[in-house]
Amino acid sequence: RIPEFQSAYRVIDRIEHAGYEAVIVGGAVRDFLLQRKVNDVDVATNALPLEVKQIFSSTIDVGIEHGTVLVLDEGEPIEVTTYRTDGDYVDHRRPEQVHFVRSLDEDLKRRDFTINALSMTKDGNIIDLFNGQTDLQNKVLRAVGEPIQRFEEDALRMLRAVRFSAQLGFSIEEKTMKAIQLKSQNIELIAKERIHMELVKLWKAPNVYHGITMLVESGLSQFLVGHFEVHKEEWKKFQADNSYVGWAYLCLLNNWDLHYISSFYKLSNKEKNFIQQVEQAYNALCNGGWTRFNLFMHELEVLEVAYEFALWQHKTVSYPKSQIAKLKSELPLQSVKELNLNGHLLMSWSSEKRGPWIKEALDAALIAVINGQVENNVDQLKEWFMYEFNNER
Ligand code: ATP
Ligand code: MG
Repeated sequence: RIPEFQSAYRVIDRIEHAGYEAVIVGGAVRDFLLQRKVNDVDVATNALPLEVKQIFSSTIDVGIEHGTVLVLDEGEPIEVTTYRTDGDYVDHRRPEQVHFVRSLDEDLKRRDFTINALSMTKDGNIIDLFNGQTDLQNKVLRAVGEPIQRFEEDALRMLRAVRFSAQLGFSIEEKTMKAIQLKSQNIELIAKERIHMELVKLWKAPNVYHGITMLVESGLSQFLVGHFEVHKEEWKKFQADNSYVGWAYLCLLNNWDLHYISSFYKLSNKEKNFIQQVEQAYNALCNGGWTRFNLFMHELEVLEVAYEFALWQHKTVSYPKSQIAKLKSELPLQSVKELNLNGHLLMSWSSEKRGPWIKEALDAALIAVINGQVENNVDQLKEWFMYEFNNER
């Protein structure tokens, strides 16, 4: 018995006890057989969603119209999905409606790739209708059934193929690849949020360059924003465990045209903010190197990413990457909050009325402390304020 599947086994036991059948399906079986880390364990069953809900005391309807109920009873939350077939696809996106069925075989047929159409009983027997295990061994992504039809039904599957190729280092089987090439334009019909989600997984994959190569060879890149064809070779250098870095790199390769990238892929404010920070840090590094103030202003991760980008673009940098953290930690301040000065103190030292000068003085004091021109204590700051700051005004 596989330790990662304990919660799923208990869920399956209880479904079986109620007289139904249930198995582990999809990504968990694939990842277990590949000896990869298993993310979420999905269970499929012939019990209908309402029947599943009757078996357990704590469930959430996460996608009940598609047959999915999240079971919370057994420790780790487990998604339990009723065996189903997909109804007609009218818009190349999602089925109009789903039909619940009582046979696992029917359910496995609707799945996208042979390696994702594997299932496993709680005794460890593998059910493999489409030779998914052989494809796993040969490191091949192959559509279940007729590839053209499968990509016609749901165009996102084409991008999933590319994403899995980067995650697993697999090739895309010839007929499957030809079908993607034929249908690539349909990716335009897919919601950008779903494309965003696939690319996030691609950025974090071990083999991004392979994924980008597949993106270009499949023709999908023509219908996405980012000039992947032109910059394909550039991606050889890329690897990141944070997906923000992927978006930042896409922007770097497109002359930091954030608007072009962010409006197409619907980037979040957090993603946009990260990119802007990296761009500023990158430009400062390339234009004479970082000042103490640059080091202070940006988070370490931003600095390290900007530094990597500069190296990749063959810019000269004057110290090794490991120095960045050290230089940053040696600054007199780590955050604005540490400055031993505030508006009240300034007011008590001055006869001037409250006004914009307070903010100017605080900003100037911050820079003076960071640059080591004045020590960060109240006496020294008062002296600095009375003589240097006021004299310069
Ligand atoms: P991961 O969770 O690591 O991204 P996964 O294979 O578990 O990979 P999910 O998106 O969680 O992917 O989907 C679970 C399973 O549902 C897949 O393994 C596949 O069998 C099926 N599936 C998901 N999306 C589709 C789709 N668009 N078309 C057909 N089957 C799909
Ligand atoms: Mg999954």
